[in-house]
Amino acid sequence: MTKLLNADHHVLIIGGSHAGVAMAEQLRKQGFDGAITMIDREDTMPMERPPLSKAWLAETSTAEKTAGFLLRQSEWFVENKVDFRSGMDVVSADAAAKTATLSTGEVLSWDQLVLATGAVPRALPESIFAAPLSSTLRDESLHVLRVPADAQRLSAAMENATSMAVIGGGYIGLEVAASARKRGLDVTVIEMAPRLLARVASPDVSQYFEELHHAHGTTIMTATALESIAPSAGDRGLTLSVKSDDQTSPLTADLVVVGIGVIPDIALADGLGLDHGNGFMVDGDYHSNIIGVWAIGDVALAAEGYTQGAMRIESVHHAQMSAEIAAAAMMGAIPKPHEVPWFWSEQYDRKLQSAGLVPADAQVVSRAGKRDGAMSFWSFSEGVLTAIESIGDPQAYMIGKTAISEGLAVTPEQIADPDFALKSLIGR
Ligand SMILES: Cc1cc2nc3c(=O)[nH]c(=O)nc-3n(C[C@H](O)[C@H](O)[C@H](O)COP(=O)(O)OP(=O)(O)OC[C@H]3O[C@@H](n4cnc5c(N)ncnc54)[C@H](O)[C@@H]3O)c2cc1C
Repeated sequence: MTKLLNADHHVLIIGGSHAGVAMAEQLRKQGFDGAITMIDREDTMPMERPPLSKAWLAETSTAEKTAGFLLRQSEWFVENKVDFRSGMDVVSADAAAKTATLSTGEVLSWDQLVLATGAVPRALPESIFAAPLSSTLRDESLHVLRVPADAQRLSAAMENATSMAVIGGGYIGLEVAASARKRGLDVTVIEMAPRLLARVASPDVSQYFEELHHAHGTTIMTATALESIAPSAGDRGLTLSVKSDDQTSPLTADLVVVGIGVIPDIALADGLGLDHGNGFMVDGDYHSNIIGVWAIGDVALAAEGYTQGAMRIESVHHAQMSAEIAAAAMMGAIPKPHEVPWFWSEQYDRKLQSAGLVPADAQVVSRAGKRDGAMSFWSFSEGVLTAIESIGDPQAYMIGKTAISEGLAVTPEQIADPDFALKSLIGR
């Protein structure tokens, strides 16, 4: 591997969230002593995203929350000589001139450019609005959740609300629903697919969470399409028209949270001449088709490293792993192989941990854990373990993750057998 960086070089990182911060950290850990600049559009110090739908939203006070969820304290940026600039955009970048222009008008030159621009929430089509919403109503009642400012706005709106409709039964939608229930709101989740979490979880886990939400008083409507949204009478809250089994019915809610997935932020692609699809296309080292330009985190569409082909993975683990691999490649070290993707979610008092990817044709075997309510779901494809999803069973998760990573022999019959000792899989 050729070392691409020396002490005279400048690395410009666009995006200061999980991937961008991990990149700066990895460059320093791996011995880069040149200049690092990191630019982020948000007007805050880099903050963790996962708590925004969980602890951050479930509680009412906001002051200490902000401090508690900083990705790094401000001293860290000083100590690591990372020039972090918030509240500004990189509006364009030029690969031939190796420059980037900021929204302030300043032009920065770079030797290596890292795109850690993440993703933005997918918006509802404007055609869904049956009548125009006033800007006040839009601001108070219609929400997405991606950045701290979104969480701040939603949390404040929840103070005066009694009901919420969540559009989309993915992890973020369900976490928001659980947090809103904790704060006493009536919550309805509307999901177009026949089951919750259809894109990311096994049918068994979907069922588990559907039952959990029912038990906490959340109304779950699967196989239900949102047809239109209009202001409610009195201009407070929104009235939704939803369709299920060919029946259309109205639903009113003070707040509507739209959690229908994200779109990778590839606004800089064309200016840089980058290959892109559903993300910036990169190789296994997260390097793009343009020399010196890298893409990591949620925005990276990595062509290698996954048996399923080019993939964009949205998780904190992937943000950190991709940063570590790209930093190693820049420093001329041999990057470590891609790890099995892993993820977690928290809803009510339950913690889900998952590793691997659930295939469409999964044979799912469930197994009760030792603790009360603990369950794990093991997905096999053609007899090979490809994913583990555990709820309240960290030991099963750890063993399953190791088995997938190391390709250990394990059969559906073993997992289904309650007397089979999981620990024997990892030789302990
Ligand atoms: C509410 C919520 C809960 C989540 N929960 C979990 C969880 O439990 N577990 C888990 O593993 N993952 C979770 N995730 C996903 C995880 O947070 C993301 O995978 C992670 O944030 C990706 O990091 P990133 O740095 O690639 O992108 P992002 O976090 O999207 O950050 C990209 C940053 O780049 C900035 N930016 C973009 N373009 C520009 C530009 N041109 N100029 C300047 N700045 C720019 C953006 O403003 C943004 O701050 C959650 C995400 C959300 C939103």
